[in-house]
Amino acid sequence: METPCVFCDIVRGKVEADVIYHDAWVTAFRDIAPKAPCHVLVVPNRHVRDLTELGADGAELLGALLWAARTIVESEGLTQMGYRLVINAGIDGGQSVDHLHLHILGGRRFGWPPG
Ligand code: AMP
Repeated sequence: METPCVFCDIVRGKVEADVIYHDAWVTAFRDIAPKAPCHVLVVPNRHVRDLTELGADGAELLGALLWAARTIVESEGLTQMGYRLVINAGIDGGQSVDHLHLHILGGRRFGWPPG
């Protein structure tokens, strides 16, 4: 039996979300608990936990993920002031949903190094 995954359910339309982008590879929706004025998650349409689980088509999928991010950065009006892209992975990385996702954050100034 498949492990339940909220991001898989969002991709399939079984859980409601504010979906702003969808293509053959990835889906993007607004984070339910935004950490910035603009906070969008881009996820692969199929379940994969993290980068190290990607297989033969990983490069193509990651290209699609970043290409979608580029489109969203523009449509969200983040081009001029900038933005941050983040992938949290595993325990040290602070990943809380075990489905690979790229955070797009914008609309405020971010600190460095991250906490
Ligand atoms: P991470 O901590 O990197 O795994 O990020 C997971 C993100 O998913 C968090 O920022 C959550 O607020 C977000 N999140 C969890 N459930 C949902 C949901 N149902 N819809 C939208 N965002 C969600």
